[in-house]
Amino acid sequence: MQQRTAEILCVGTELLMGGTVNTNATEIAKELAGLGINLYHSSVVGDNSERLAEAVKLALSRADILITTGGLGPTYDDLTKETVAACFGKKLVLHPECLEEIKAYFARAHRTMTPTNEKQAWLPEGCTVLPNPNGTAPGCVIEAGDKLVAILPGPPREMRAMLKNGLVPLLTQKGQRLVSHELHFYGIGESELEYRLHDLMVQSQNPTIAPYAGTGEVKLRVTARVAEEEDAEALLRPVMEQILAAAGEYCYGVDVPDLQTAAVKLLREKGLTAATAESCTGGLVASRLTEVPGASAVFGCGIVSYNNQVKTDILGVDPAVIREYTAVSAETAAAMAEAVRRKAGAEIGIGVTGNAGPAASEGQPVGLVFVAVASERYSHVSRMFIDRQDEDARGLIRHLAALKALSLLRKAAEKY
Ligand code: ATP
Ligand code: MG
Repeated sequence: MQQRTAEILCVGTELLMGGTVNTNATEIAKELAGLGINLYHSSVVGDNSERLAEAVKLALSRADILITTGGLGPTYDDLTKETVAACFGKKLVLHPECLEEIKAYFARAHRTMTPTNEKQAWLPEGCTVLPNPNGTAPGCVIEAGDKLVAILPGPPREMRAMLKNGLVPLLTQKGQRLVSHELHFYGIGESELEYRLHDLMVQSQNPTIAPYAGTGEVKLRVTARVAEEEDAEALLRPVMEQILAAAGEYCYGVDVPDLQTAAVKLLREKGLTAATAESCTGGLVASRLTEVPGASAVFGCGIVSYNNQVKTDILGVDPAVIREYTAVSAETAAAMAEAVRRKAGAEIGIGVTGNAGPAASEGQPVGLVFVAVASERYSHVSRMFIDRQDEDARGLIRHLAALKALSLLRKAAEKY
């Protein structure tokens, strides 16, 4: 199969100034990986038409496909369309149907359209229009010779919709379909996962394997290019089996949105119930569980026992445990998990206690968390130490502790 190359060019002075994080480049790069299109360069240029033209020409000298974002707005500094069009010797022409779309958008939003918005309906002659369901500025694709340039808007919500619904189908080679599965991992870092799968990832062209690192989680998307959808599984299955053989113990689900959904699904399948007792996560584990539709069948009780008196008087933890080991200890976490399990009459209890900051307490450092699971078949306490002192530390500690709790809950359910 012919290998195509692409390049990303994000336009915007605010990206150069550091005011905006370039999430568009990341999202486009991931889509390209899924499409099996090679990406060798990705750059940023300010809102300056000479430097933009230079960057466009350079990109087209070395790539088949150029994708730009930003500079499609109605103001004087939005000059991507006219600059790219000029690189191809094309003019901008008014697209009446785009103008109608823009007018309709303003009418729906009960906003008054200004004459400058009309500028957004002027697009390069002969281009393919990419509709913008989330905003006013349409995008477009210019094809000339063997080159293709896609011009997308800057706001990520608008860019994303246009990329997925407009551009990806265009870039998918004619007569081909993309079918993918997502494998979700917890408890293994991206680098360790890539290390284990390195050869497979490098060799695999169809399907492709693309990693996505999240906070505390990693996802692998395995994508096959096929002529007929029913041919996809035969390509995908052997590769997924190899991935699971190398790291299956960390995989919590295939094609599930998140860990809480995987946990609730498993609890439901096994007819189990769970209860939570949380200190430093303040109910985050319960909140995640109840985000999942149908959680009421498996979750009926979450107690936020932030201070010690609630841990003993309401939850029923033996005060001697806290006295002897402190509130932030493996023993207290285990006692909380067991206490809430009994109190709720659930099969599985979760206990979380830790110090999320900002200062050390009871002699325990910030970032020390104990997460316990208690059940008749599986009881365990995980000690986590998240050694971060920055302003995001508190949120991160709580997030990672909640993930650990959900993972232990799933593990306990697996034993039934
Ligand atoms: P607008 O109609 O809003 O002017 P535009 O297509 O002209 O849209 P820009 O003006 O370049 O796009 O950017 C609009 C906003 O979109 C920026 O302020 C920024 O918040 C966001 N944005 C632009 N480029 C990126 C990018 N590469 N990554 C993430 N966000 C971006
Ligand atoms: Mg703009």
